[in-house]
Amino acid sequence: MKILCVGRNYPEHVEEMGNVSSGSVSAALSAGLLFFMKPETAQLRRNRPFYIPEWTQNVHHEVELVLKVCKNGKYIQERFAHTYYSDIGVGIDFTARDLQNDLIALGQPWEKAKAFDHSAPVGAFLPKEQLNVKQGIRFSLKKNGEICQSGNSRDMIYDFDHIIAEISQYVTLKMGDLIFTGTPSGVGTVQAGDLLEAFIEDEMLLRIAIK
Ligand code: MG
Repeated sequence: MKILCVGRNYPEHVEEMGNVSSGSVSAALSAGLLFFMKPETAQLRRNRPFYIPEWTQNVHHEVELVLKVCKNGKYIQERFAHTYYSDIGVGIDFTARDLQNDLIALGQPWEKAKAFDHSAPVGAFLPKEQLNVKQGIRFSLKKNGEICQSGNSRDMIYDFDHIIAEISQYVTLKMGDLIFTGTPSGVGTVQAGDLLEAFIEDEMLLRIAIK
């Protein structure tokens, strides 16, 4: 399996990252969908602790809705895209922000900062029929009991169907792949001793102790 991740998909997050990325919401839109991949080894089994790697001083949490791909597909048309995912969950796209900023400055790919081991914990999934995809899915992250990120999928620049259709023009989707769909604003640093809890609507689906 592989993990596909969409970047810069919520306008307020694009704005908060404005200094380190290439800028504004309109620039992000004109550049088209941004995606990158994490390997299978980025998975962190549910509710296991996350150990901050020794080579970074600034790991950020990015809470994201995650789609579970339920059948193989290539060149998927947007109108059929909804048949390619069955379940929706919540995950954290852990990002070594210090290293990512260095890589961006050098014009290099983000892998070291994004694809490292255990950088993609995912919680329990819900069948998409249980959620109101059309109206928007509310999700959030609490750090040490306080809400630090909250978003709604209706605010995405690119919706789930567009993401699946566009990614599949480049990369074949396979059953079991996971698609991280972008983070809302409020990303921030985690430190040893922190507790992260991620929610869809009011249901806690993922809990991670930071070590
Ligand atoms: Mg992300």
